[in-house]
Amino acid sequence: MSEKNNAQKLQEKLSYKKKNYFEIASEAERKAMYSYAKGYMAYLDAAKTEREACAVSVEMAKLKGFTEYRFGDALKPGDKKYFVNRGKSVVVFRVGTKNLEEDGIRLIASHIDAPRIDIKQNPLYEDSGMAFLKTHYYGGIKKYQWTAIPLALHGVVVLKDGTKVELNIGEAATDPVFYINDLLPHLGGDQMGGKATKIVEGEQLNVVVGALPYADEEVKDKIKLTVLAMLNEKCGMCEEDFLSAELSVVPAYPARDIGLDRALIGAYGHDDRVCAYPALTAVLDQESPHTVLAMLVDKEEIGSEGTTGIQCKVYEDLMEEISIALGANFRKVRANSKCLSSDVTAAYDPNFAGVYEKMNSAMLSCGTAMCKFTGARGKSGSNDANAEFVGEVRKMFAEEGVVWQTAELGKVDAGGGGTVAKFVAQLNIDTVDLGVPVISMHAPWEVISKADLYSNYKAFLAFMK
Ligand code: MN
Ligand code: MN
Repeated sequence: MSEKNNAQKLQEKLSYKKKNYFEIASEAERKAMYSYAKGYMAYLDAAKTEREACAVSVEMAKLKGFTEYRFGDALKPGDKKYFVNRGKSVVVFRVGTKNLEEDGIRLIASHIDAPRIDIKQNPLYEDSGMAFLKTHYYGGIKKYQWTAIPLALHGVVVLKDGTKVELNIGEAATDPVFYINDLLPHLGGDQMGGKATKIVEGEQLNVVVGALPYADEEVKDKIKLTVLAMLNEKCGMCEEDFLSAELSVVPAYPARDIGLDRALIGAYGHDDRVCAYPALTAVLDQESPHTVLAMLVDKEEIGSEGTTGIQCKVYEDLMEEISIALGANFRKVRANSKCLSSDVTAAYDPNFAGVYEKMNSAMLSCGTAMCKFTGARGKSGSNDANAEFVGEVRKMFAEEGVVWQTAELGKVDAGGGGTVAKFVAQLNIDTVDLGVPVISMHAPWEVISKADLYSNYKAFLAFMK
Protein backbone atom coordinates (compact mmCIF):
# COMPACT_ATOMS: atom_id res chain seq x y z
CA MET A 1 0.00 0.00 0.00
CA SER A 2 1.25 3.47 -0.86
CA GLU A 3 1.91 6.20 1.70
CA LYS A 4 -1.10 8.34 2.58
CA ASN A 5 -0.96 11.82 1.10
CA ASN A 6 -1.62 14.92 3.20
CA ALA A 7 -5.25 15.23 2.19
CA GLN A 8 -5.89 11.61 3.15
CA LYS A 9 -4.21 12.19 6.51
CA LEU A 10 -6.25 15.35 7.05
CA GLN A 11 -9.43 13.52 6.16
CA GLU A 12 -8.60 10.77 8.63
CA LYS A 13 -7.99 13.36 11.33
CA LEU A 14 -11.09 15.44 10.75
CA SER A 15 -13.79 13.00 9.65
CA TYR A 16 -16.01 10.72 11.69
CA LYS A 17 -17.04 7.29 10.47
CA LYS A 18 -18.66 4.58 12.53
CA LYS A 19 -16.98 1.21 12.43
CA ASN A 20 -18.15 -2.38 12.49
CA TYR A 21 -17.04 -3.71 15.88
CA PHE A 22 -16.41 -7.25 14.58
CA GLU A 23 -14.06 -5.77 12.00
CA ILE A 24 -11.90 -3.84 14.44
CA ALA A 25 -12.04 -6.25 17.42
CA SER A 26 -8.98 -8.29 18.29
CA GLU A 27 -9.15 -12.08 18.06
CA ALA A 28 -9.39 -12.26 21.85
CA GLU A 29 -12.16 -9.69 21.97
CA ARG A 30 -14.13 -11.50 19.29
CA LYS A 31 -13.88 -14.67 21.35
CA ALA A 32 -15.05 -12.75 24.39
CA MET A 33 -18.11 -11.53 22.42
CA TYR A 34 -19.12 -15.08 21.52
CA SER A 35 -18.50 -16.40 24.98
CA TYR A 36 -20.44 -13.55 26.67
CA ALA A 37 -23.33 -14.25 24.28
CA LYS A 38 -23.67 -17.80 25.61
CA GLY A 39 -24.42 -16.58 29.12
CA TYR A 40 -26.89 -14.08 27.71
CA MET A 41 -28.73 -16.73 25.70
CA ALA A 42 -29.06 -18.97 28.75
CA TYR A 43 -30.50 -15.98 30.63
CA LEU A 44 -33.03 -15.35 27.84
CA ASP A 45 -34.25 -18.94 27.92
CA ALA A 46 -34.63 -18.91 31.70
CA ALA A 47 -36.24 -15.47 31.87
CA LYS A 48 -39.11 -15.01 29.42
CA THR A 49 -41.29 -12.97 31.80
CA GLU A 50 -40.39 -10.18 34.22
CA ARG A 51 -41.07 -12.51 37.16
CA GLU A 52 -38.67 -15.10 35.79
CA ALA A 53 -36.07 -12.47 34.87
CA CYS A 54 -36.32 -11.10 38.40
CA ALA A 55 -35.88 -14.55 39.99
CA VAL A 56 -32.97 -15.54 37.73
CA SER A 57 -31.24 -12.19 38.30
CA VAL A 58 -31.53 -12.61 42.08
CA GLU A 59 -29.99 -16.11 41.82
CA MET A 60 -27.11 -14.68 39.78
CA ALA A 61 -26.60 -11.88 42.31
CA LYS A 62 -26.55 -14.33 45.22
CA LEU A 63 -23.89 -16.41 43.48
CA LYS A 64 -21.72 -13.28 43.36
CA GLY A 65 -22.15 -12.65 47.07
CA PHE A 66 -24.93 -10.04 46.87
CA THR A 67 -27.41 -10.08 49.76
CA GLU A 68 -30.96 -8.78 50.03
CA TYR A 69 -31.51 -5.15 51.00
CA ARG A 70 -34.68 -3.90 52.69
CA PHE A 71 -35.62 -0.30 53.48
CA GLY A 72 -33.99 0.80 56.72
CA ASP A 73 -31.02 -1.60 56.52
CA ALA A 74 -27.60 -0.20 57.36
CA LEU A 75 -25.15 0.21 54.47
CA LYS A 76 -21.42 0.74 54.22
CA PRO A 77 -18.92 1.16 51.38
CA GLY A 78 -18.22 -2.16 49.67
CA ASP A 79 -21.71 -3.57 50.29
CA LYS A 80 -23.21 -5.61 47.43
CA LYS A 81 -27.01 -5.70 47.55
CA TYR A 82 -30.14 -6.57 45.63
CA PHE A 83 -33.62 -5.17 46.17
CA VAL A 84 -36.72 -6.97 44.92
CA ASN A 85 -39.98 -5.14 44.18
CA ARG A 86 -42.99 -7.51 44.23
CA GLY A 87 -41.10 -10.25 42.43
CA LYS A 88 -41.36 -8.32 39.14
CA SER A 89 -38.51 -5.88 39.24
CA VAL A 90 -35.09 -6.01 40.83
CA VAL A 91 -32.34 -3.51 41.57
CA VAL A 92 -28.75 -4.62 42.17
CA PHE A 93 -26.31 -2.15 43.64
CA ARG A 94 -22.83 -1.69 45.04
CA VAL A 95 -21.98 0.95 47.62
CA GLY A 96 -18.87 2.80 46.48
CA THR A 97 -16.05 4.40 48.38
CA LYS A 98 -16.53 7.90 46.93
CA ASN A 99 -18.53 10.50 48.84
CA LEU A 100 -22.14 9.85 47.84
CA GLU A 101 -23.26 13.49 48.05
CA GLU A 102 -20.44 14.66 45.79
CA ASP A 103 -20.29 11.71 43.42
CA GLY A 104 -23.97 10.74 43.23
CA ILE A 105 -25.20 7.38 41.99
CA ARG A 106 -24.25 5.81 38.65
CA LEU A 107 -27.55 4.41 37.53
CA ILE A 108 -28.34 2.00 34.69
CA ALA A 109 -32.08 1.68 34.03
CA SER A 110 -33.36 -1.20 31.90
CA HIS A 111 -36.59 -3.18 31.69
CA ILE A 112 -37.41 -6.89 31.85
CA ASP A 113 -41.00 -6.96 30.60
CA ALA A 114 -41.51 -7.70 26.90
CA PRO A 115 -44.44 -7.64 24.47
CA ARG A 116 -46.54 -10.79 24.75
CA ILE A 117 -50.11 -12.10 24.92
CA ASP A 118 -51.80 -11.97 28.33
CA ILE A 119 -54.63 -14.30 29.36
CA LYS A 120 -57.92 -12.60 30.39
CA GLN A 121 -59.52 -13.12 33.82
CA ASN A 122 -62.46 -15.15 32.38
CA PRO A 123 -60.62 -16.90 29.60
CA LEU A 124 -61.65 -20.52 29.10
CA TYR A 125 -64.28 -21.76 26.63
CA GLU A 126 -64.73 -24.44 24.03
CA ASP A 127 -65.96 -24.15 20.49
CA SER A 128 -66.00 -26.53 17.51
CA GLY A 129 -63.69 -29.20 18.87
CA MET A 130 -61.17 -26.89 20.55
CA ALA A 131 -60.75 -25.28 23.95
CA PHE A 132 -59.39 -21.74 23.96
CA LEU A 133 -58.14 -19.07 26.34
CA LYS A 134 -59.20 -15.49 25.57
CA THR A 135 -56.40 -12.91 25.66
CA HIS A 136 -55.50 -9.23 25.67
CA TYR A 137 -52.11 -8.46 24.16
CA TYR A 138 -49.44 -6.62 26.17
CA GLY A 139 -47.29 -3.94 24.54
CA GLY A 140 -47.01 -2.82 20.94
CA ILE A 141 -47.23 -5.87 18.71
CA LYS A 142 -48.12 -6.69 15.13
CA LYS A 143 -50.91 -9.07 16.09
CA TYR A 144 -50.69 -11.19 12.95
CA GLN A 145 -47.10 -12.18 13.87
CA TRP A 146 -48.32 -14.08 16.92
CA THR A 147 -50.46 -16.60 15.04
CA ALA A 148 -49.28 -20.00 13.84
CA ILE A 149 -46.22 -20.21 16.09
CA PRO A 150 -45.55 -22.43 19.13
CA LEU A 151 -46.36 -20.64 22.38
CA ALA A 152 -45.53 -21.37 26.01
CA LEU A 153 -47.74 -20.53 28.99
CA HIS A 154 -46.02 -18.69 31.86
CA GLY A 155 -47.22 -17.02 35.01
CA VAL A 156 -48.75 -17.32 38.42
CA VAL A 157 -52.16 -18.25 39.81
CA VAL A 158 -53.24 -17.06 43.24
CA LEU A 159 -55.66 -19.72 44.49
CA LYS A 160 -58.77 -19.09 46.56
CA ASP A 161 -56.86 -19.72 49.81
CA GLY A 162 -54.15 -17.24 48.83
CA THR A 163 -51.55 -19.82 47.81
CA LYS A 164 -49.53 -18.72 44.79
CA VAL A 165 -48.65 -21.39 42.23
CA GLU A 166 -46.36 -20.93 39.25
CA LEU A 167 -47.02 -22.24 35.77
CA ASN A 168 -44.43 -22.78 33.05
CA ILE A 169 -45.62 -25.08 30.26
CA GLY A 170 -44.11 -25.27 26.79
CA GLU A 171 -40.40 -24.61 27.31
CA ALA A 172 -39.10 -28.16 27.87
CA ALA A 173 -38.64 -30.17 24.67
CA THR A 174 -41.14 -32.76 25.97
CA ASP A 175 -43.77 -30.16 26.97
CA PRO A 176 -46.85 -29.50 24.86
CA VAL A 177 -47.11 -25.98 23.44
CA PHE A 178 -50.05 -23.66 22.68
CA TYR A 179 -51.23 -22.00 19.49
CA ILE A 180 -53.16 -19.11 17.98
CA ASN A 181 -54.93 -20.03 14.73
CA ASP A 182 -54.51 -18.21 11.43
CA LEU A 183 -56.57 -18.48 8.28
CA LEU A 184 -55.47 -20.65 5.36
CA PRO A 185 -54.45 -18.64 2.26
CA HIS A 186 -57.12 -20.43 0.24
CA LEU A 187 -59.78 -18.58 2.23
CA GLY A 188 -57.65 -15.58 3.14
CA GLY A 189 -58.52 -13.37 0.18
CA ASP A 190 -60.54 -10.81 2.14
CA GLN A 191 -58.18 -11.02 5.12
CA MET A 192 -55.09 -10.35 3.01
CA GLY A 193 -56.70 -7.40 1.30
CA GLY A 194 -57.39 -5.66 4.61
CA LYS A 195 -55.21 -3.39 6.71
CA ALA A 196 -52.40 -5.19 8.55
CA THR A 197 -53.83 -4.00 11.88
CA LYS A 198 -57.03 -5.88 11.00
CA ILE A 199 -55.53 -9.06 9.49
CA VAL A 200 -55.95 -10.66 12.89
CA GLU A 201 -57.96 -8.68 15.43
CA GLY A 202 -57.46 -8.58 19.18
CA GLU A 203 -60.45 -10.78 19.94
CA GLN A 204 -59.19 -13.40 17.48
CA LEU A 205 -56.01 -13.96 19.48
CA ASN A 206 -57.53 -16.95 21.27
CA VAL A 207 -55.07 -19.57 22.43
CA VAL A 208 -55.77 -23.25 21.71
CA VAL A 209 -55.23 -25.21 24.94
CA GLY A 210 -56.96 -28.54 24.27
CA ALA A 211 -59.14 -30.74 22.07
CA LEU A 212 -59.85 -33.96 23.99
CA PRO A 213 -63.44 -34.37 25.19
CA TYR A 214 -63.84 -35.61 28.77
CA ALA A 215 -65.06 -39.24 28.74
CA ASP A 216 -68.64 -38.78 29.95
CA GLU A 217 -72.07 -38.96 28.32
CA GLU A 218 -73.79 -36.39 30.53
CA VAL A 219 -71.55 -33.33 30.91
CA LYS A 220 -71.49 -30.43 28.47
CA ASP A 221 -68.30 -28.56 27.48
CA LYS A 222 -66.34 -31.80 27.64
CA ILE A 223 -63.07 -30.38 26.22
CA LYS A 224 -63.18 -27.46 28.63
CA LEU A 225 -63.62 -29.98 31.45
CA THR A 226 -60.58 -31.95 30.30
CA VAL A 227 -58.50 -28.74 30.37
CA LEU A 228 -59.85 -27.77 33.80
CA ALA A 229 -59.16 -31.26 35.18
CA MET A 230 -55.58 -31.14 33.88
CA LEU A 231 -54.96 -27.66 35.28
CA ASN A 232 -56.42 -28.82 38.58
CA GLU A 233 -54.12 -31.81 38.62
CA LYS A 234 -51.12 -29.68 37.68
CA CYS A 235 -51.50 -26.83 40.15
CA GLY A 236 -54.71 -27.31 42.14
CA MET A 237 -56.57 -24.52 40.37
CA CYS A 238 -60.28 -24.24 39.47
CA GLU A 239 -61.82 -22.04 36.77
CA GLU A 240 -62.53 -19.32 39.34
CA ASP A 241 -58.81 -19.06 40.08
CA PHE A 242 -58.22 -17.45 36.67
CA LEU A 243 -59.76 -14.37 38.33
CA SER A 244 -56.58 -13.86 40.35
CA ALA A 245 -54.08 -15.21 37.86
CA GLU A 246 -51.40 -13.47 35.84
CA LEU A 247 -50.78 -15.75 32.88
CA SER A 248 -49.19 -14.98 29.54
CA VAL A 249 -48.24 -16.81 26.39
CA VAL A 250 -44.83 -16.13 24.90
CA PRO A 251 -43.01 -17.71 21.95
CA ALA A 252 -41.85 -21.21 22.89
CA TYR A 253 -38.61 -20.95 20.92
CA PRO A 254 -35.24 -20.87 22.69
CA ALA A 255 -32.57 -18.33 21.73
CA ARG A 256 -30.47 -19.49 18.76
CA ASP A 257 -27.43 -18.33 16.82
CA ILE A 258 -28.32 -16.87 13.43
CA GLY A 259 -26.12 -17.15 10.34
CA LEU A 260 -23.33 -19.51 9.33
CA ASP A 261 -20.85 -17.36 11.26
CA ARG A 262 -23.14 -17.29 14.32
CA ALA A 263 -22.65 -13.52 14.61
CA LEU A 264 -26.30 -12.77 15.39
CA ILE A 265 -28.76 -14.03 18.00
CA GLY A 266 -32.43 -14.69 17.36
CA ALA A 267 -34.63 -14.74 20.46
CA TYR A 268 -37.86 -13.67 22.07
CA GLY A 269 -37.52 -10.60 24.29
CA HIS A 270 -34.17 -9.04 23.37
CA ASP A 271 -36.08 -5.83 24.11
CA ASP A 272 -34.92 -5.15 26.74
CA ARG A 273 -33.06 -8.08 28.23
CA VAL A 274 -30.22 -7.32 25.84
CA CYS A 275 -29.67 -4.26 28.04
CA ALA A 276 -30.87 -5.71 31.36
CA TYR A 277 -28.42 -8.62 31.24
CA PRO A 278 -25.35 -6.44 30.54
CA ALA A 279 -26.51 -3.96 33.22
CA LEU A 280 -26.89 -6.79 35.72
CA THR A 281 -23.63 -8.54 34.86
CA ALA A 282 -21.65 -5.28 34.80
CA VAL A 283 -22.70 -4.52 38.38
CA LEU A 284 -22.20 -8.13 39.48
CA ASP A 285 -18.80 -8.50 37.78
CA GLN A 286 -16.96 -5.27 38.47
CA GLU A 287 -16.10 -3.34 41.62
CA SER A 288 -16.52 0.41 41.40
CA PRO A 289 -15.40 3.46 43.37
CA HIS A 290 -18.89 4.86 42.65
CA THR A 291 -22.17 3.77 44.14
CA VAL A 292 -23.62 1.92 41.14
CA LEU A 293 -27.12 0.69 40.70
CA ALA A 294 -28.72 -1.40 37.93
CA MET A 295 -32.50 -1.25 37.75
CA LEU A 296 -34.37 -4.04 35.98
CA VAL A 297 -37.92 -2.71 35.94
CA ASP A 298 -41.31 -3.88 34.73
CA LYS A 299 -44.16 -2.34 32.68
CA GLU A 300 -42.01 -0.28 30.29
CA GLU A 301 -43.92 -1.70 27.35
CA ILE A 302 -47.21 -0.28 28.65
CA GLY A 303 -45.98 3.11 29.80
CA SER A 304 -43.95 2.36 32.96
CA GLU A 305 -47.10 2.45 35.10
CA GLY A 306 -48.13 0.55 38.23
CA THR A 307 -46.16 -0.43 41.31
CA THR A 308 -43.48 -2.20 39.32
CA GLY A 309 -43.03 0.33 36.50
CA ILE A 310 -40.35 2.99 36.83
CA GLN A 311 -42.89 5.77 37.51
CA CYS A 312 -43.58 4.14 40.89
CA LYS A 313 -41.97 6.01 43.79
CA VAL A 314 -40.35 2.82 45.07
CA TYR A 315 -37.19 3.39 42.99
CA GLU A 316 -36.85 6.98 44.19
CA ASP A 317 -37.48 5.75 47.75
CA LEU A 318 -34.73 3.17 47.33
CA MET A 319 -32.20 5.79 46.27
CA GLU A 320 -33.33 8.02 49.13
CA GLU A 321 -33.00 5.15 51.61
CA ILE A 322 -29.49 4.44 50.33
CA SER A 323 -28.65 8.12 50.81
CA ILE A 324 -30.07 8.17 54.35
CA ALA A 325 -28.21 4.97 55.28
CA LEU A 326 -24.96 6.59 54.17
CA GLY A 327 -25.71 9.90 55.86
CA ALA A 328 -26.08 11.80 52.58
CA ASN A 329 -28.57 14.47 51.53
CA PHE A 330 -30.73 12.84 48.85
CA ARG A 331 -31.27 16.06 46.92
CA LYS A 332 -27.51 16.52 46.60
CA VAL A 333 -27.05 12.84 45.77
CA ARG A 334 -29.51 12.87 42.90
CA ALA A 335 -28.28 16.23 41.60
CA ASN A 336 -24.88 14.60 41.14
CA SER A 337 -26.17 11.26 39.84
CA LYS A 338 -25.92 10.10 36.25
CA CYS A 339 -28.08 7.62 34.39
CA LEU A 340 -27.79 5.48 31.31
CA SER A 341 -31.38 4.72 30.36
CA SER A 342 -30.66 1.43 28.77
CA ASP A 343 -33.18 0.36 26.17
CA VAL A 344 -32.99 -1.00 22.66
CA THR A 345 -33.27 1.01 19.48
CA ALA A 346 -34.11 0.06 15.90
CA ALA A 347 -31.23 -1.27 13.81
CA TYR A 348 -31.13 0.01 10.23
CA ASP A 349 -32.71 -2.61 8.00
CA PRO A 350 -31.91 -2.39 4.27
CA ASN A 351 -35.09 -4.36 3.50
CA PHE A 352 -37.14 -1.48 4.89
CA ALA A 353 -34.79 1.38 4.04
CA GLY A 354 -37.66 3.82 3.47
CA VAL A 355 -38.40 4.42 7.15
CA TYR A 356 -34.78 5.06 8.18
CA GLU A 357 -32.42 7.97 7.73
CA LYS A 358 -29.21 6.07 7.12
CA MET A 359 -26.70 8.59 8.47
CA ASN A 360 -28.37 8.67 11.89
CA SER A 361 -29.63 5.11 12.22
CA ALA A 362 -28.00 2.49 14.39
CA MET A 363 -26.04 0.10 12.18
CA LEU A 364 -25.92 -3.52 13.18
CA SER A 365 -22.61 -4.53 14.82
CA CYS A 366 -21.35 -0.93 15.10
CA GLY A 367 -21.76 -1.03 18.87
CA THR A 368 -24.29 -0.01 21.45
CA ALA A 369 -26.27 3.02 20.32
CA MET A 370 -26.77 6.29 22.15
CA CYS A 371 -30.01 8.15 21.45
CA LYS A 372 -29.59 11.74 22.57
CA PHE A 373 -33.33 12.05 22.07
CA THR A 374 -36.27 9.75 21.37
CA GLY A 375 -39.88 10.82 20.94
CA ALA A 376 -41.96 11.52 17.86
CA ARG A 377 -43.17 14.52 15.84
CA GLY A 378 -40.64 17.15 16.87
CA LYS A 379 -38.96 15.11 19.65
CA SER A 380 -42.23 15.16 21.61
CA GLY A 381 -42.06 13.13 24.83
CA SER A 382 -38.28 12.95 24.70
CA ASN A 383 -35.68 13.38 27.42
CA ASP A 384 -33.23 14.97 24.92
CA ALA A 385 -29.99 14.75 26.90
CA ASN A 386 -27.71 17.77 27.35
CA ALA A 387 -24.67 18.00 25.12
CA GLU A 388 -22.54 18.38 28.26
CA PHE A 389 -23.69 15.02 29.61
CA VAL A 390 -23.38 13.33 26.22
CA GLY A 391 -19.84 14.71 26.10
CA GLU A 392 -19.08 13.34 29.54
CA VAL A 393 -20.30 9.85 28.63
CA ARG A 394 -18.47 10.00 25.32
CA LYS A 395 -15.24 10.72 27.19
CA MET A 396 -15.82 7.78 29.56
CA PHE A 397 -16.28 5.47 26.58
CA ALA A 398 -13.22 6.80 24.76
CA GLU A 399 -11.04 6.23 27.83
CA GLU A 400 -12.13 2.59 28.01
CA GLY A 401 -12.09 1.88 24.28
CA VAL A 402 -15.83 1.28 23.99
CA VAL A 403 -17.02 0.92 20.40
CA TRP A 404 -20.35 2.73 20.19
CA GLN A 405 -22.50 4.82 17.87
CA THR A 406 -25.34 7.29 17.99
CA ALA A 407 -28.84 6.54 16.74
CA GLU A 408 -32.22 7.97 16.00
CA LEU A 409 -35.19 5.63 15.76
CA GLY A 410 -36.28 6.01 12.14
CA LYS A 411 -36.48 9.09 9.97
CA VAL A 412 -38.20 12.27 11.10
CA ASP A 413 -41.99 11.84 11.26
CA ALA A 414 -41.80 8.14 10.33
CA GLY A 415 -42.87 7.17 13.86
CA GLY A 416 -40.98 7.02 17.13
CA GLY A 417 -40.89 5.58 20.60
CA GLY A 418 -40.19 6.35 24.22
CA THR A 419 -38.13 4.90 27.05
CA VAL A 420 -37.82 5.30 30.82
CA ALA A 421 -35.26 8.12 30.34
CA LYS A 422 -37.73 10.97 30.88
CA PHE A 423 -38.94 9.51 34.19
CA VAL A 424 -35.41 9.25 35.60
CA ALA A 425 -34.59 12.75 34.36
CA GLN A 426 -37.57 14.09 36.35
CA LEU A 427 -35.58 13.29 39.51
CA ASN A 428 -32.94 15.88 38.49
CA ILE A 429 -30.61 13.13 37.24
CA ASP A 430 -28.67 13.61 33.99
CA THR A 431 -29.86 10.82 31.72
CA VAL A 432 -29.18 9.59 28.22
CA ASP A 433 -30.52 6.58 26.29
CA LEU A 434 -28.05 3.87 25.37
CA GLY A 435 -28.89 0.42 24.08
CA VAL A 436 -28.51 -2.34 21.57
CA PRO A 437 -29.86 -2.01 17.99
CA VAL A 438 -32.53 -4.63 17.23
CA ILE A 439 -33.85 -6.02 13.94
CA SER A 440 -37.60 -6.87 13.94
CA MET A 441 -38.17 -5.25 17.35
CA HIS A 442 -41.34 -6.45 19.14
CA ALA A 443 -41.68 -9.44 16.79
CA PRO A 444 -42.00 -12.85 18.49
CA TRP A 445 -38.40 -13.46 17.49
CA GLU A 446 -36.05 -10.48 17.41
CA VAL A 447 -32.45 -10.27 16.20
CA ILE A 448 -29.35 -8.61 17.65
CA SER A 449 -25.60 -8.73 17.00
CA LYS A 450 -23.18 -10.34 19.46
CA ALA A 451 -20.83 -7.39 18.89
CA ASP A 452 -23.48 -4.90 20.03
CA LEU A 453 -24.37 -7.01 23.08
CA TYR A 454 -20.74 -7.07 24.16
CA SER A 455 -20.27 -3.38 23.39
CA ASN A 456 -23.21 -2.62 25.68
CA TYR A 457 -21.60 -4.61 28.50
CA LYS A 458 -18.30 -2.81 27.98
CA ALA A 459 -20.09 0.55 27.96
CA PHE A 460 -21.61 -0.17 31.38
CA LEU A 461 -18.23 -1.27 32.76
CA ALA A 462 -16.75 2.01 31.50
CA PHE A 463 -19.61 3.97 33.11
CA MET A 464 -18.79 2.30 36.44
CA LYS A 465 -15.03 3.07 36.28
MN1 MN B 1 -37.59 -1.47 25.44
MN1 MN C 1 -40.19 -2.23 23.56
